[in-house]
Amino acid sequence: MVDPTSDLNEDISADDAPSCQTCGEKIVDSTDHRVITWVEDGGVESAHFCDDECRMEWDGDD
Ligand SMILES: [Zn+2]
Repeated sequence: MVDPTSDLNEDISADDAPSCQTCGEKIVDSTDHRVITWVEDGGVESAHFCDDECRMEWDGDD
């Protein structure tokens, strides 16, 4: 059974793979993959990162 609302699709194909918000690299099968989600204008936004370093770089606005 497929849950269409699931963000954590383990069986993702390369074509559907998200890109890192910081470096733009395709995230395929990465164990360091990070995803954050937040609510904006009544919808759920999400951002993907290839690892924690990229996630923190995107987060930090010095
Ligand atoms: Zn990255």
